[in-house]
Amino acid sequence: MQSTTLSAGDPIEARCTKCRKNTNHIVVAMTEAGPAKVQCNTCSGQHKYRPPTAPKKPGVRRTVDPKIAEKKEWEELLPAMNGKQKTDYSMTTAFKVGSLMNHPVFGIGLVQSLGGPRKVSVLFEDGKKTMRCK
Ligand SMILES: [Zn+2]
Repeated sequence: MQSTTLSAGDPIEARCTKCRKNTNHIVVAMTEAGPAKVQCNTCSGQHKYRPPTAPKKPGVRRTVDPKIAEKKEWEELLPAMNGKQKTDYSMTTAFKVGSLMNHPVFGIGLVQSLGGPRKVSVLFEDGKKTMRCK
């Protein structure tokens, strides 16, 4: 077993409650058990040594590629969209939320929301796109 050879003045990573994160500290006082008091390099606050907390597990929040999620959403909507009337896309056509668009390049799309004046947000197989319209 390798014993820690820390002494006062040594840099150490510790949890700072002021900074609310793990920051670099300097050991201010040592005991036989380990660092007793540390000073935060970030906020210069002195406090009892707290071991750094483990970083939040990166795998907990699943990061789904929005493109994949949008394609899946589109595929789930497709059976319902197939039976409905589609309007060929043109910049001079007015589209309502919930209506279907037939785009020469992107294919069938569902108008999901109004993206602003003369713009609609449309879900295509390729993902969401903002389209100009009337
Ligand atoms: Zn701090």
